[in-house]
Amino acid sequence: MRVAGFTMIVFGLLGSFFFAVGVDTGVSTGVSGRVENIGLLSRQSNGLIVSGLLFMTGCILVGLAAVRDAVDRLGPAIIANAPRAMPPAQQRSAPLEPAPSPNDTQSAAQSVQAVAEPSFSKICPDCGSISMGTAKTCRRCGHQYSDAAADASQVAP
Ligand SMILES: [Zn+2]
Repeated sequence: MRVAGFTMIVFGLLGSFFFAVGVDTGVSTGVSGRVENIGLLSRQSNGLIVSGLLFMTGCILVGLAAVRDAVDRLGPAIIANAPRAMPPAQQRSAPLEPAPSPNDTQSAAQSVQAVAEPSFSKICPDCGSISMGTAKTCRRCGHQYSDAAADASQVAP
């Protein structure tokens, strides 16, 4: 990364030097001496812009490499404080995700129960199966609902 940055800086400097000095934008005409060629000028400016961008990118790369080296040189003190403070947070949040799942299943079961025992349903006192409130007998075990049991099950939450 640093080598690439230096390479880009070198090529940027060389390119800007080449386009600034090496390109002759003048065109000699026989009569009035030298005339600037607009096409060559625009090519020179483009080359200067590209070289400048190359140079700046190289500077950025070298700067990033220098920052990385500084972090490495300053050692585990900074690293332990700054970047490695993140993974424990992630590890802390990770176990929290499975924890709510039992609660979710519990609440889901409760909601299923709440849905399963509205006032128009009956719970068989023998087998616990749920029948329609209009049913006279349990559809699973054949238990005959009395009116009192039906009323009790209807009142019960
Ligand atoms: Zn039953």
